Amino acid sequence: MSIAENIAQVYRQIEAAVAKAGRNHDSVRLLAVSKTKPADDVRAAYAAGQRSFGENYVQEGIEKVQALSDLDIDWHFIGPLQSNKTREVASHFDWVHSVDRLKIAQRLNDQRPDDLPPLNICIQVNVSGEDSKSGISPAELPSLVEAISQLPRLRLRGLMCIPAPAEDEAAQREPFHQLAGLLSVLPAGDTLSMGMSGDMEAAIAEGATWVRIGTAIFGRRDYSNH
Ligand SMILES: *Cc1c(COP(=O)(O)O)cnc(C)c1O
Repeated sequence: MSIAENIAQVYRQIEAAVAKAGRNHDSVRLLAVSKTKPADDVRAAYAAGQRSFGENYVQEGIEKVQALSDLDIDWHFIGPLQSNKTREVASHFDWVHSVDRLKIAQRLNDQRPDDLPPLNICIQVNVSGEDSKSGISPAELPSLVEAISQLPRLRLRGLMCIPAPAEDEAAQREPFHQLAGLLSVLPAGDTLSMGMSGDMEAAIAEGATWVRIGTAIFGRRDYSNH
């Protein structure tokens, strides 16, 4: 199937899940995760109407942002972020979904160029014993929210998680349910970034507003370059 057909298929899945959950039809947005994929694949998705793209690796992401600067794309950084890479992310991306410590947030705030609007931020939370070392614990969330809320060049939008893969829908829903329950900690939280190719229905059932979809749009990834 082509990238355009894959996107249409993902939208059918999203629409079915939204209808089943009794949610508003435009309450879930699709983030196309283009990590490891060439700029031409992003162009193909763009030609099919897709406007929001997610990248995990700073260098690769910046190269694509620059190669595709003729397109009207909003770029989301969704990978682990080290402090020596924050400047490039602050100047080239519209969103960062993976903030999990104050130092990174402070640097993004200080380095966000004045001619750009505030950078949209999600805090990555490590829900229900993920094996990943990324994400802060729910107990530490309130103090991080409080501190990030003081940073004028950031706009704290919501929360993100990457649960360990689970097979059945009940097990998939549990961590998403936990994340959704934490959103009220934010003063103006309107965003739940949760759900990937294998668990988007469960995430939508629990209130996802961004689903981050790579494989179902672009096919399997080849990691040999990373
Ligand atoms: C790779 C990745 C995705 C997309 O995963 P798929 O299973 O390919 O849909 C989503 N979110 C993050 C943070 C990722 O690293």
